Amino acid sequence: MKVLVAVKRVIDYNVKIRVKPDHSDVDLTNVKMAMNPFCEIAVEEAVRLKEKGVATEIVAVTVGPKAAQEQLRTALALGADRAIHVETEERVESLAVAKLLKGVVDEEQPGLVILGKQAIDTDNNQTGQMLAALANMGQGTFASEVAFGDGVEEGEVRVTREIDGGLQTVALKLPAVVTTDLRLNEPRYAKLPDIMKAKKKPLDTRTPEALGVSVASGLSLLKVETPAERKGGIKLGSVDELIDKLKNEAKVL
Ligand code: AMP
Repeated sequence: MKVLVAVKRVIDYNVKIRVKPDHSDVDLTNVKMAMNPFCEIAVEEAVRLKEKGVATEIVAVTVGPKAAQEQLRTALALGADRAIHVETEERVESLAVAKLLKGVVDEEQPGLVILGKQAIDTDNNQTGQMLAALANMGQGTFASEVAFGDGVEEGEVRVTREIDGGLQTVALKLPAVVTTDLRLNEPRYAKLPDIMKAKKKPLDTRTPEALGVSVASGLSLLKVETPAERKGGIKLGSVDELIDKLKNEAKVL
């Protein structure tokens, strides 16, 4: 079974975000970029499926600027066999990303598509769902377990989903879309020899035009603001003092 994994280039989660002085956007100048953490989990899951003999080929795909090839090389170092770069310097909204991914799905015909549940830059949490709808595939979102064989019907995947108050298990007919939650697995680090080998793995490029998708957006970004600074805390001498402050200052009692 071929597995397609969608990975997004985002600001590294360790970086403190800076907003441009004119508040027009987040400032990306000299900022360390990385693979979206939920996409790392998606790659890891695909690699584990290959190690189990369920997946035969892993294809990593990204939509983004030329520099996003860095994240594809990371996916290749982690175990993807080849990569597809849909190149665009435009800001691409989720629906256009989903349409582009659908174009790649049509070309590649994977048995399973794995995405992160959410990109940590825009927190959209919708690309996987949109892709499933466009490709007319079942979706197992917020997956904490992905199972094949072992009591799972042939031609199906069983996905355990993290939902409010518990876990839900669904069976999806293949091909299907899965989005990863935090507890699905713990991604490995790429080893130096694998990083070197990844440089030689195939990486093809596509354009949105070739896939017949317009990336023009119906949305314009009006303003970006940093969250309000948290006020410093204070140390109180007694419980009575705390109750007094909760009653008379915070007025929550
Ligand atoms: P979002 O819906 O934007 O929160 O993103 C959810 C997931 O969709 C990500 O974790 C990726 O797997 C995928 N995705 C979103 N944007 C892109 C992109 N530009 N290129 C490739 N995959 C993407």
